[in-house]
Amino acid sequence: MGRVLFVSAGPGAADLITLRGARALGQADVVLFDALTDPALRELAPDARWVDVGKRGFCHSTKQTAINAALVREALANEVVVRLKGGDASVFGRLEEELIALAEAGIPYEIVPGVTAAIAAAAQTGRPLTRRGAGRSVALTTAMTREGELQAGKSADTEVFYMAGQQLAALSRRLIAAGWAPDTPVSVVSRAGCADALSSEHDIASLGAASMLHKGRPTVVIVGAGAAPLAGDVEPGDESAARSAAVSIAAPWPVSTPVPGATTPSIAGPAEADLGEYATKARSQTLGVGGPDWSAQTLND
Ligand code: SAH
Repeated sequence: MGRVLFVSAGPGAADLITLRGARALGQADVVLFDALTDPALRELAPDARWVDVGKRGFCHSTKQTAINAALVREALANEVVVRLKGGDASVFGRLEEELIALAEAGIPYEIVPGVTAAIAAAAQTGRPLTRRGAGRSVALTTAMTREGELQAGKSADTEVFYMAGQQLAALSRRLIAAGWAPDTPVSVVSRAGCADALSSEHDIASLGAASMLHKGRPTVVIVGAGAAPLAGDVEPGDESAARSAAVSIAAPWPVSTPVPGATTPSIAGPAEADLGEYATKARSQTLGVGGPDWSAQTLND
């Protein structure tokens, strides 16, 4: 009998896996992988058998049972099975069911932690999730209930919503109903950590305007203290200082209302001179043309 290594792949870009995760992949005989993991990770386990267990097009509960069974089957037939999950394996990753299945079969496992989307998103915006005095708590929250209903409350100074990208206007209404002030700052970040990541700044009242920009891409929504500009940040309009913080895109998006403060990543992003080409590329991703078909993946926004 073998063992199962749950490896957290990070939020999309292959180089956000940990060293420990990369080493685990290097030992794998078989890799069971999800949607949202970068195909470039295959280079870390070229000789392993890679099995796609993404939940694309399947009913969630049925498919999860099938994944549990495949894990047990592969662990009985191989020495090292890697179960590769997007972001961090223990955040909205159905890890519990898989651990129970292994425990019931008496199969040993280890879990390798990783970068969850919320953390990659904070790196993208340059706005820390915690703030001295004003941001003492952070909640990772799924906006969707098991029944597929949108739900949003107020449980921390900074609330990071996963799986809400398709319903930003409704999320805005739910947040206001839950007691958040309409002018509370919000950052919306899609494909955080990837070369084509996008982030935009809003307030709760105008959150719906972000829908087109991030459509069809995995998206997190950061609400509250962790979305506030840095103390001493420049106001929009002070262009020279704003450029040094992040490259601003004038209005390249196919939206009728310009999205306030849409930015490209300040580190991984292109030089300012390349912006036209970059914007076109990002727009084709937004429209679902030319990039991976994110909309086909159940867990995507
Ligand atoms: N285990 C993953 C989360 C899986 S749930 C993690 O720790 O990140 C899938 C949701 O994660 C998506 O609907 C989206 O809300 C979020 N997500 C995953 N990758 C993302 C990325 N690169 N950028 C922004 N959000 C992402």
